[in-house]
Amino acid sequence: ATEGRRPLIAGNWKMNLDHLQAIAFVQKLSWGLKDVGHDYDDVEIAVFPPFTDLRSVQTLLSADKLSLKLGAQDVSPHESGAYTGDISAQFLAKLDVEYVIVGHSERRGGHGESDETVGAKARAAQAAGLVPVICVGETAEDLEEHGAAAIPVAQLERAVAELPADAEYVVAYEPVWAIGSGQAATAEQAEEVCRALREQLREQRGETEAAATRILYGGSVTSQNIASFLRQPDVDGALVGGASLKVDEFTRIVQFKK
Ligand code: PGA
Repeated sequence: ATEGRRPLIAGNWKMNLDHLQAIAFVQKLSWGLKDVGHDYDDVEIAVFPPFTDLRSVQTLLSADKLSLKLGAQDVSPHESGAYTGDISAQFLAKLDVEYVIVGHSERRGGHGESDETVGAKARAAQAAGLVPVICVGETAEDLEEHGAAAIPVAQLERAVAELPADAEYVVAYEPVWAIGSGQAATAEQAEEVCRALREQLREQRGETEAAATRILYGGSVTSQNIASFLRQPDVDGALVGGASLKVDEFTRIVQFKK
């Protein structure tokens, strides 16, 4: 982390917790964070539940004036119309969703999403006032063939090219081999790629935007390794999968400074 960029810890629930479980979980989490005196201005926290949970979680957050931010896991690249099964950025914005993940490796890999699609989703999200969380990362094969940074840098370049000059977005570097594997990158490996990603933004978008944009690390983040990542100058937070589903563990992660 670096002065001037507020760390963001994002909990990507993936396809876990139905809307009733989500309500119980968010209540427990936010009460727990209150108990430990979490300072949301110091470390921002966002949860990314499945689409079907968003309305319930939104209602809870607004009724109890909770400081957790709400994110979605995906979005349609289209505005509206004949796109069966799609969810528009406008729908999400209406539910007070602030962030939306685009280009997660489980969608790039499992659903054949191209860089073009990811860019179009980022653009649709931004146009509706949401902050896209653009996920990039290399597979184990990419790592062998091209080294760590080449593929994520190319993915980022193509996605960011779709955004207007003043856009706010977050980048998430997630090596595919580290996701859900229990085998996180080392803090040094993460820093090396995050630094290369920021260098790409500097070249493509200029110093101001590169310095303001938060770059997260994701892939087997736990309460044990979170602090080592956040000590790196170009790592501004984390995208947390498995460990975001356990209240106590996620609470320890967001309290990484303690
Ligand atoms: P993980 O998932 O923390 O379970 O490795 C991270 C992610 O896929 O965002």
